[in-house]
Amino acid sequence: MPVLSYIHHLFNVEQCHAYIHTLRWKARPLQCPRCQSHNVGPWGAYHYQPGLKRYRCKEKGCKRTFNDLTGTLLDGSKRSVMYWILATFLLCLSCSSRRIARELGVHGRTSYRWCWWLRNTAISYETDRQVEGTVEADELYHTAGSKGQAKHGGPKHLGRRARGRRKKREPGRGHYDKDRPAIIAWVSRQGAVVIQATKNFTVQTVQKAADLAVQAGSRLYTDSASSYRALKGYVHEYVNHTKKEYARGDVHENRAECLFSLLKPYLRMFRGLSKTNLPGYVGFFQFLRNARQQNAFEQAGLILRAALDPAVASRARRGEYVKYLDHFDLLQTAIN
Ligand SMILES: [Zn+2]
Repeated sequence: MPVLSYIHHLFNVEQCHAYIHTLRWKARPLQCPRCQSHNVGPWGAYHYQPGLKRYRCKEKGCKRTFNDLTGTLLDGSKRSVMYWILATFLLCLSCSSRRIARELGVHGRTSYRWCWWLRNTAISYETDRQVEGTVEADELYHTAGSKGQAKHGGPKHLGRRARGRRKKREPGRGHYDKDRPAIIAWVSRQGAVVIQATKNFTVQTVQKAADLAVQAGSRLYTDSASSYRALKGYVHEYVNHTKKEYARGDVHENRAECLFSLLKPYLRMFRGLSKTNLPGYVGFFQFLRNARQQNAFEQAGLILRAALDPAVASRARRGEYVKYLDHFDLLQTAIN
């Protein structure tokens, strides 16, 4: 039985619409989403969506009708806003899309699509984040292969033999083509974190990642990997793990390693990742981590608020906020 059939007495559709209404128009007056006119008035309701109020843009405007969901991420959904609010809440409690499908009683493909739209919306808060002050950095290689179905249905063609369970992986550092992309974490001792999925761990990629994530002139503490030692623009000190040195006074990267100890079980819940989806999962984890002072309902409120902004919603549906960091891509765009 879907969860909603148990809690709909406590949680009804009118209240959900009122919540969505205040969330969308809290900061600004009610206006037409098409011509931005403020000269609008009520215009009845929808019989198939109880609780959703309709408005009409009056004279001098476009004279079209709209509602609280027009142009947003929730626009055009057959399911009521109750489902969306609950799905966002469960997503912030780190549920997988399959779990959400089961709890809500929607199809697995529906919840998969919703989850990615909502994750992308959450990542819109994180795109320009930079950390400063004393910053610890560390990297992780996560196995992420070709999970999922082919475009035309059926299993994906791997172009290689299946990895096999518990099979020992290849030696050396991982990278995208070996199905082990790198994840770099920048953890500020002042609290904020930036986590990036990168295709490899070369000097150029790490330099680009640092330029994006860390404010110039910050103090960096890392391990002795050569890509960090080549970094320019920061005050840099490192500990040498090969010499069993893990902390030298104030210089250590324990917070970055601690962050990975939280990220790894978070990713394990999805039972294997596709390497194309890795940046999305990592980005959403970054959002949850930076909003960790708030409870799951407040985090869901943040995501829904961004989802109600038409500009964010259209970009989130296309997945424009998520991408791999790779300096080769940058070079190629410069050439083209
Ligand atoms: Zn209008």
